[in-house]
Amino acid sequence: MTDKHAETVTGWNFDNSYARLPETFFTRLNPTPVASPQMAILNEGLAESLGLNNQVLGSEEGVEVLAGNRVPEGALPLAQAYAGHQFGYFNMLGDGRAILLGEQITPRGERVDIQLKGPGRTPYSRRGDGRAGLGPMLREYIISEAMHGLRIPTTRSLAVVTTGQAVIREEEQPGAVLTRVAASHLRVGTFQYAARWGSLDDLRALADYTLQRHFPEIGAEENRYLALLQGVIQRQAALIAKWQLVGFIHGVMNTDNMTLSGETIDYGPCAFMDAYDPATVFSSIDSSGRYAYGNQPNIAAWNLARLAESLLPLLHPDEEQAIKQAEGAIAGYFELYNRNWLAGMRAKLGIFGEEQEDQTLIEELLGMMQKYGADYTNTFRALTFDKLEDENLFGTPEFARWQELWQARLGRQQEAPASSRQLMRSSNPAVIPRNHRVEEALEAAVSREDYSVMNRLLNVLSSPYAHSPEQGDYAALPPESLRPYQTYCGT
Ligand code: AMP
Ligand code: MG
Ligand code: MG
Repeated sequence: MTDKHAETVTGWNFDNSYARLPETFFTRLNPTPVASPQMAILNEGLAESLGLNNQVLGSEEGVEVLAGNRVPEGALPLAQAYAGHQFGYFNMLGDGRAILLGEQITPRGERVDIQLKGPGRTPYSRRGDGRAGLGPMLREYIISEAMHGLRIPTTRSLAVVTTGQAVIREEEQPGAVLTRVAASHLRVGTFQYAARWGSLDDLRALADYTLQRHFPEIGAEENRYLALLQGVIQRQAALIAKWQLVGFIHGVMNTDNMTLSGETIDYGPCAFMDAYDPATVFSSIDSSGRYAYGNQPNIAAWNLARLAESLLPLLHPDEEQAIKQAEGAIAGYFELYNRNWLAGMRAKLGIFGEEQEDQTLIEELLGMMQKYGADYTNTFRALTFDKLEDENLFGTPEFARWQELWQARLGRQQEAPASSRQLMRSSNPAVIPRNHRVEEALEAAVSREDYSVMNRLLNVLSSPYAHSPEQGDYAALPPESLRPYQTYCGT
């Protein structure tokens, strides 16, 4: 049942462009209603920017929509079809526990997907229950909002509602539905699906749709599809560099978890690195370290090569020519990635302009951090505020020598020291979502229905570059008893 008046009051303003793609790309179906939905947490700032009324969203009828019990006017719910390489193995996947309600057209004219995560089974569920647990959905909420605070492109979290039904994992836990907001849910895996099981027309329709939705600036040039590939490569190179610069480890960089929009998506076993070590892995299932911190840039290239392969039939009628174009584009990724990373690292050290030796200077610092087990975030924070106390690294002669080189480098630039300091403040976060802080917030919310711990954490994470006094506590490292930290695939 829909009620036109209610939707107008809530502010839902749906279009359904994805549903106009060939039918092979989705299955239409409604969410499965749940027993007794209740709001767990609502992102009021995000709701407002989407043109939604918080009062109504938080009311019984608003919660019914967010739980999947009521389909709002204008929505056309569907599950998306996609494939993907999971830890290197190709599979047919699709939204097994997600349903797209439609695309909200915001007051600023932007188009964003409104997706329910955990709304019940779909034709792509395989043996899964289509449901999600409260802990993992709150975890996605916290980390995605933290990424947004860090100015890293990401899907957002609009709300989490509890369902009143338990989900069974290793143990029973409260069930929940997360409302995810995304520029789109188009993935590398969507193209893999089209290339493997669709017709050439399907593949072209998907490519044209992606161009229109995410790269409207690419005109009717000679090779729009090569431009599409290059555009995605550019965005992913920029995104992965941003991850590396803050020490974010995604944990499950399968090709179905890589967007074409350039947003971070699918917060499962992700976590932030404490001590700097390229081999850092948090996910319990990533025993080979395929998705280790230091491997992320290479994995992104591997995933983009899968996208390039999928696009081959559109690039050039002659396969050899098509492969040549694809290879050229992929080769460009590493240069783009390095340029982004280097620019970001220079900023973290207050460096303006470019000198040949900058890369060595940066690598020397990272090498020392690894050798002395220095905390990644706090080392840069200490350099920013010239408070060289807490890390063992700072007392070493190696560091003293490096510091001289760094100071000499800063001395050779025109910009005043105050400008350097300002650049460092806005490039080095005071806080990241430390694993023990996230656990503490989840424990309070899930076990005691106390959301105050989570709300305080979210508040601090919303402005990591503020460097305000109350952030101090959140910069502290996890106690020894919580290390090494392990994450489990979010379910
Ligand atoms: P992910 O590891 O989150 O990227 O998910 C991989 C695939 O498994 C996707 O097709 C998901 O929709 C599906 N999936 C994950 N959890 C469930 C579940 N509880 N029920 C059904 N499908 C699921
Ligand atoms: Mg996924
Ligand atoms: Mg997931």
